[in-house]
Amino acid sequence: MFGPNEYPDWKDAHTEARTRANATGLDVAIRKTSGLGKIAFNVAFASVNDSDYALAEIVRPEPKAAQEFTFDAKKYTLRNTGDSSARYGLCEVCGKHCSEVHIQQEYTQYAPGQFTHDDVLMGHAHCLQSVRPKSATKLLQQFKKLKDENATD
Ligand SMILES: [Zn+2]
Repeated sequence: MFGPNEYPDWKDAHTEARTRANATGLDVAIRKTSGLGKIAFNVAFASVNDSDYALAEIVRPEPKAAQEFTFDAKKYTLRNTGDSSARYGLCEVCGKHCSEVHIQQEYTQYAPGQFTHDDVLMGHAHCLQSVRPKSATKLLQQFKKLKDENATD
């Protein structure tokens, strides 16, 4: 028959996956299995180490209510232009000459998996890395401070 995490009905499997994803904040995979001529849907946490993300249906946790949401992630891409300040100008962080100018693009998460494109900075790789927020906590403090400043005006 069916195992403890197997559901003959896709709807039941989906309901279970949705519940687990929301309860844990983790992605849940629904894999179609078949044996002895019976088809079932297996529900388990998605693993990035195998083919779940390519082959299984992934149920992601639903975002929390808007008022509960806090900025919890920034991400950055860093690209080497291969050219110097002679072409791209001085480092925008330290104001000095760079032999290899890098371009950093900043992204802010505004909902799970959704990012805005923010500032672009150019300069030394180590300078660009140094202006990244140290942690989500620091970012949250900055955001709260801004909110407070705006509220007192
Ligand atoms: Zn610099």
